[in-house]
Amino acid sequence: MLIRIDIEKCTGCGTCLNVCPFGAIIIKEYKAFITEACTLCGACVESCPESAIIDERGKEEAKQATMEDMQDSKFKVQGVWVFAEQSQGKIASVAYELLGIGRKLAEELKSELSAVLFGPSDEVQELIKWGADKVYYADASQYAYLDDELYARTLVKLINQHKPEILLAGATAIGRSFIPRVAARLRVGLTADCTGLEIDKETGNLLQIRPAFGGNIMATIVSPTSRPQIATVRPRVMKRGEYNPDKKGEIIKIEPLEPTGKVKVLERVEETSFCKVNLQDAKVIVSGGRGIGGPEGFSMLWELASLLGGTVGASRAAVDEGWIPYAHQVGQTGKTVCPKLYIACGISGAVQHLVGMQSSDIIVAINKDPNAPIFNVATYGIVGDVKVIVPLMIKKLKEGVS
Ligand code: FAD
Repeated sequence: MLIRIDIEKCTGCGTCLNVCPFGAIIIKEYKAFITEACTLCGACVESCPESAIIDERGKEEAKQATMEDMQDSKFKVQGVWVFAEQSQGKIASVAYELLGIGRKLAEELKSELSAVLFGPSDEVQELIKWGADKVYYADASQYAYLDDELYARTLVKLINQHKPEILLAGATAIGRSFIPRVAARLRVGLTADCTGLEIDKETGNLLQIRPAFGGNIMATIVSPTSRPQIATVRPRVMKRGEYNPDKKGEIIKIEPLEPTGKVKVLERVEETSFCKVNLQDAKVIVSGGRGIGGPEGFSMLWELASLLGGTVGASRAAVDEGWIPYAHQVGQTGKTVCPKLYIACGISGAVQHLVGMQSSDIIVAINKDPNAPIFNVATYGIVGDVKVIVPLMIKKLKEGVS
């Protein structure tokens, strides 16, 4: 328990009971006790008139930097860090994409770029070749699979030791799961799902750009008084940097921590091929929207996609109609994709769809409405009925005519 009651000081007044939003404090024999329901939000600490509630994190991990701290030369924050997630030893592609943007940010700040890798992997050197100057590496077996608590505790410890200025992580199942814990424990901000990252030339703050209000505006978020500035970025949003096979860097082994065992993984079940959709790595995506007219419309999209060596995506409208599983959804609440060719069939081009696919190299839009917004981002537009155009494309491809 990182928040505790000093029983000697507690008078059992009950003020903290009313303050705790989670009902996690009880009074027994005129003394307050914190129960398992405590989320460590810290709301009770300030409320106690006797200063009997102690936040131990103040000593161990909750080192929040104030503006004065940062200006103080003793409190030196520096460096850009990328959390490089791995699965079964294979480093996720998003890590290399983050190293690409991380390198740019580090150069602007005239500082180093480091990667943090938890779990055994043969690909540590790849992180250096893709731009990292240093890799903080925990290769112990307890890090092989995500353990939120262990990952968060280890990363917080490292951050407190080395005080990076910026931490970037993938907005993936892993990043989304444990990076908020890291931010909460450090009491710093976290901007999720950034689509752009820049350095403010005047202040040196990280400008964290992301869609807001249902994608209708782009918000620029700054954390001017706390460090590190933490941002997550979805896979395929950033481009990889340059690969340098001769680049040298330092690999720093991290002393492993022991898991607390609060959560035990009883079984791991691999995704079956039925629900595994590798949209994010696909070179060609043929996507269908409400204009496809029904689940049967997706059969022709699958045929076209397989002729082009690609896979099938969808708009949220098609997913909501139940025509295709959610795993295929492209957009703000689906996947962000960046294929060489994206064919949008019967998709209007709502902003929430566009944010997930507009960085595709070539976009072909097929829509019967010549004013559909999808044509604003399309490289090639075909005004017509998908049920006529797509079968024609299939026929031509089968005939071998490009
Ligand atoms: P519609 O907007 O209904 O468009 C259908 C299009 O098909 C029309 O342009 C029409 O002209 C055309 N059409 C119809 N018949 C034919 C035909 N026979 N031949 C050719 N063209 C035809 N949407 C996403 O896609 N992904 C997301 O991740 C996502 N997240 C969202 C998050 C939030 C918070 C909100 C509020 C919305 C989100 N949406 C998302 C929904 C989004 O706003 C749109 O409602 C959705 O993208 C519309 O899907 P659509 O283009 O398939 O359908």
